[in-house]
Amino acid sequence: MDATVQLPAAPAAVGVPRERWYQRRLPLPIFYGASLGHLLMVLVAAIAIVAAPLIFNDGFVQQIMQTIAYYTIAAIGLNVLVGYQGQVSLGHGALFAFGAYASALLTTRAGVPVWIAIFVAAGIAGFLGFLVALPTLRARGHHLAMVTIALAVVTFVVAQTWTAVTNGPTGIGNIPRPEWFGTTMGSLRKFRPLGDEGPVLTGQMLYFWVCAGLALIVQLLANNLLTSRWGRTINAVRQSEIASETIGVSVYRMKLKTFAFSAVLAGLAGALFTHQQGYIVSDTFTFDKSVELLVFVILGGARSLFGPLIGTTVLVILPEALKTIGSYNILPSSNLVLQIVLVAVGGLAAAGLMRRGQPTATRTVLSLLTIGGFLGFTLVTPQIIEHFLIVYGGLLIVFLVTMPDGMAGFLRDLPGLRSLSRPAAYAASDGRGVQGELLAKSADARRQRLELNEIKMHFGGVKAIDDLSMTVEPGQVHGLIGPNGSGKSTLVNVVTGVYTPTAGEVRLGSRVLNRLRPHNIAAAGVTRTFQNIQLFKDLSVLDNVMMGFHTRRRAGFLHQLLRTRYAALEEDDVRRRALRLLAFLEIEHLADAEAQSLPYGLQRMVEIARALATGPSILLLDEPAAGVNPSEIGRLSSVIQRVAASGVTLLVIEHHMDLVMGVSNHVTVLDYGKKIAEGTPASVQSNQRVIEAYLGSGSHAFEDLRRGERPPLPLGEALSTGEGAVSA
Ligand code: ADP
Ligand code: MG
Repeated sequence: MDATVQLPAAPAAVGVPRERWYQRRLPLPIFYGASLGHLLMVLVAAIAIVAAPLIFNDGFVQQIMQTIAYYTIAAIGLNVLVGYQGQVSLGHGALFAFGAYASALLTTRAGVPVWIAIFVAAGIAGFLGFLVALPTLRARGHHLAMVTIALAVVTFVVAQTWTAVTNGPTGIGNIPRPEWFGTTMGSLRKFRPLGDEGPVLTGQMLYFWVCAGLALIVQLLANNLLTSRWGRTINAVRQSEIASETIGVSVYRMKLKTFAFSAVLAGLAGALFTHQQGYIVSDTFTFDKSVELLVFVILGGARSLFGPLIGTTVLVILPEALKTIGSYNILPSSNLVLQIVLVAVGGLAAAGLMRRGQPTATRTVLSLLTIGGFLGFTLVTPQIIEHFLIVYGGLLIVFLVTMPDGMAGFLRDLPGLRSLSRPAAYAASDGRGVQGELLAKSADARRQRLELNEIKMHFGGVKAIDDLSMTVEPGQVHGLIGPNGSGKSTLVNVVTGVYTPTAGEVRLGSRVLNRLRPHNIAAAGVTRTFQNIQLFKDLSVLDNVMMGFHTRRRAGFLHQLLRTRYAALEEDDVRRRALRLLAFLEIEHLADAEAQSLPYGLQRMVEIARALATGPSILLLDEPAAGVNPSEIGRLSSVIQRVAASGVTLLVIEHHMDLVMGVSNHVTVLDYGKKIAEGTPASVQSNQRVIEAYLGSGSHAFEDLRRGERPPLPLGEALSTGEGAVSA
């Protein structure tokens, strides 16, 4: 059997708009494929950074701008973890503290130069974060949130009491500040670096440029990461850990890396904080710091590239602005009528927002009224400003009601801005130059048989599988049938490593599988689909399938962070191959659709495409026809046959007898976890025990069973165990 499939060329992508001049992609060595538009945006950002302290030429304001810059760095890291990977950390204040103390101690005690200490401190925070995550991330759910709360609390207590190192509340003073042009950063001394005619600069400006420059770099690198395979993978992990595992993603390692990455950025921010302040005291690093960082991300917009920047900017400025306004006494004095009106406006608008299905324009107006009412109320109530944490908390509630996707999400939805944020259309693929076979396993790998030896899978007293031995011969379509609860899905879970069998052995060729994790088993060439479809719901169909190529990709973390030519070309190649795979399954027109928007039958096709993308030797389909429109069964059947013809061995679990008998060369029947029959479809259908099992279970499948009598595929190399020997 030929190991390669003749695939139709992918279609010229449908509806891809013509390229404009600013969309031209540039073959740069890093940031490969960035467009002129991107470069212009970076240039504008750089100019804004240079200009900002020259325009706001005030030491206090410049210090606030520095603060925004380094908190943005921390928030970007936290957003990767909380927004994209969906794991809440309430301990990033502690990682911030690690960076702060590490840099303070390195410079004051060990005499390490500031420029070096800042980055070493970030590394130390990353490493400590990694150590915390190591035992924690094995668990699922809210475990991380709990452990990070403990981390935040313990870190504060240690900072407070381990005075030999931290000086506790007295603090570490005389922390050196970086120098540049012979000027101490952070000082207000004026100097003219470009001679007497040049601009007057201060040390405060220089430190802002350092912090903001680093923030810009971090933003660009994070954007690279989040729009590459890495970002897609953590998105996928958030949506289905089990599906990620079965296409070869080590979920645990992915989570570890994400946590360490965000810890490095929290540590970098902490170090920048330390050298801005010049002294640090333990009281700074309370639990509040962690909450503050999380609020920056959530209010700004989790899972959006620029949400952290927006959230941090607004929330650092806001309390300062309120304090300033309060201290100048320029507010109208508390006017009860005005206060009541403002609260009423804000409250009514918030109530209006709760109604679903309003047009964007209405929502925008209502959101602004809500926030305006709330802010207005705080402004005419000067007493509140003394307690700006109340304002903070109130804002959090108002924002979560009015802007569930944060400020970034709100801005993105504004009519004028929506088109700007639309994801770049993928390049049209003509399939030329991609001669490599789609299903990349060598013919040898394909010739491995899957063997189950005396498998037992017990759940307490339930013997879901009991002493089952069976063999799936290479190149076969092997049907697996049995009444509900007979152990079919359990068998798939055992083979793919989701469950470790109570006893027995699963082998692929000579390799024992049943001690491996699901992602190792996927890499070994065994993958599956799920009885309850497990797609990455928020991702596009194309992204779902591209995820399937995970184990076959080589560009690592650094390549993706820098978006090297290598990483970008690999991404393009994988996109092309994913499109061809979609074409193979005749769903290429759905490439851009969100997976969850599709009807069940098409979701199943996407799941099969994603599984095929792993290049499997064996594909296990768990009830592929479940929930599928009867008119689409024929299509499913033809897909199964074409996949089989391409050399992939299939194990098909199915209740739909026409389907399973039509496509299988060989059928195994389970009942109560035991094999009750095996043989050609014809022999199995006439087997007395099979008929009894189906009748006994009250299933109507028996009728289907009779109707399904048709000759097996000519390839059928029927293996009869004798049990099914009575021919119809
Ligand atoms: P099938 O897919 O053939 O319908 P399953 O493999 O899903 O059957 O289930 C077989 C038996 O194992 C059922 O009795 C089911 O309740 C039990 N079972 C499956 N998974 C678990 C589990 N994780 N814990 C306890 N019992 C389970
Ligand atoms: Mg099942």
